[in-house]
Amino acid sequence: MATLGKLFIITAASGTGKTSLVKELLASTDNLTVSISHTTRNPRAGEIDGVHYHFVSTDEFCNLIEQAAFLEYAQVFDNYYGTSKQAVQTLLEQGRDVILEIDWQGALQIKDKFAEAVMIFILPPSREALRTRLSGRGQDSPEVIEKRLAGSLTEMKQYDKFDYLVINDEFELALSDLQTIIKATRLRTATQQGRQAQLLANLLGDANP
Ligand code: 5GP
Repeated sequence: MATLGKLFIITAASGTGKTSLVKELLASTDNLTVSISHTTRNPRAGEIDGVHYHFVSTDEFCNLIEQAAFLEYAQVFDNYYGTSKQAVQTLLEQGRDVILEIDWQGALQIKDKFAEAVMIFILPPSREALRTRLSGRGQDSPEVIEKRLAGSLTEMKQYDKFDYLVINDEFELALSDLQTIIKATRLRTATQQGRQAQLLANLLGDANP
């Protein structure tokens, strides 16, 4: 796919603080957007359809799979989650940098298709911190929290398949780490050759003495 936009994958176990970090990253970085996933899970309090997720039924999700509408999809806990191929392609073609906030199974599917995707993994500072954050969120039942904790260990063990590892101990530090990764990616020569094509032509082209 010929595009100017860069694809960033951000993966973390549930309760690591990934969503708050991504929210702040988006607010503090120009030309960066997050892809809105489809999911079969029910909305939590305060979640809005089309903003946090596209909430769909299992039947609708299966239809989208059949139509090959997903760049990747995976079952996470008891629900399906997927990334819309069309939405991401459109954003990348517009030159927007795109974040996919997805689980490790989806992340590895993307890496197969987009070798250039920048893969970032976020870990919590300790298991205790993870449990505290999951319980403190107050949005899930105790059974769901226990299930998520068990699942998170499996997820966290995938960290070494990613390009970057960020520890979310102090929010501001982790945010700064993410900002640095975005900035460094944007400054890569291969990226700059696309984004600074005019400047490079003017500067180095034969037309100008
Ligand atoms: P939650 O239900 O807490 O919003 O998300 C549960 C998990 O699903 C998180 O790890 C989240 O990153 C992941 N997830 C959200 N959207 C997608 C998606 O489109 N694809 C995949 N593979 N995982 C997703």
